Amino acid sequence: MKELDIRKEIIATCLKMEELGINQGTSGNISHRFEDGILITPSGISYDLLKPKDIVFVPFRSKKEYQGEYPPSSELDFHFDLLKAKPQINCVLHNHSTYATSMAICRMDIPAHHYMVGVGGGKKIPCAPYATFGTSELSQNIIKTLDGYHACLLANHGVLATALTLKKALNIAVEVENLAKQYIMAKQIGEPVILDDKEMDRILEKFKSYGLKK
Ligand code: 13P
Ligand code: ZN
Repeated sequence: MKELDIRKEIIATCLKMEELGINQGTSGNISHRFEDGILITPSGISYDLLKPKDIVFVPFRSKKEYQGEYPPSSELDFHFDLLKAKPQINCVLHNHSTYATSMAICRMDIPAHHYMVGVGGGKKIPCAPYATFGTSELSQNIIKTLDGYHACLLANHGVLATALTLKKALNIAVEVENLAKQYIMAKQIGEPVILDDKEMDRILEKFKSYGLKK
């Protein structure tokens, strides 16, 4: 993909998060691999004001050598560390969607109450231990928690999704919010039944071919 197209798609995805009601204001951030570094949203700027030139390039050789008018997202550490360490992903998306963040505030994983939990790559959507936003400690906690998963919650903070494309990362984030909402709603009327390990093994096996036909 051309650099300008990636810059435009980052902004379009930020705006889509807002339109879908899974993020607002200056919350959240998005990055995409580009050549020998990453393109990432600038820190603290409303998405509706973003222009393609405002997206910041950060080379893998040094976080300090970023190129852009504004500084990169305060969460540069986890975007940078994840994209540098995991060649199998191209995109990192972070938001503060309400239901998923509510579970993260309770420091709960989203359990396997529905087969769609498999979109996160495992038998639950795990919650990463708490660390202050914008710290390398938060990045380390995320890297340890992700270990095979595509998505996780961030304790008292929000959601993180990784994927090959921004479209997929957004879909995962939307599904994580949906799963959290279902779980919280189900909790209001009874005790959610969690699918057992054997059933989740079967589901994860089916997920390997699910959605790949087109
Ligand atoms: P930035 O505006 O610096 O990206 O911060 C938003 C955020 O969600 C921090 O966790
Ligand atoms: Zn955040």
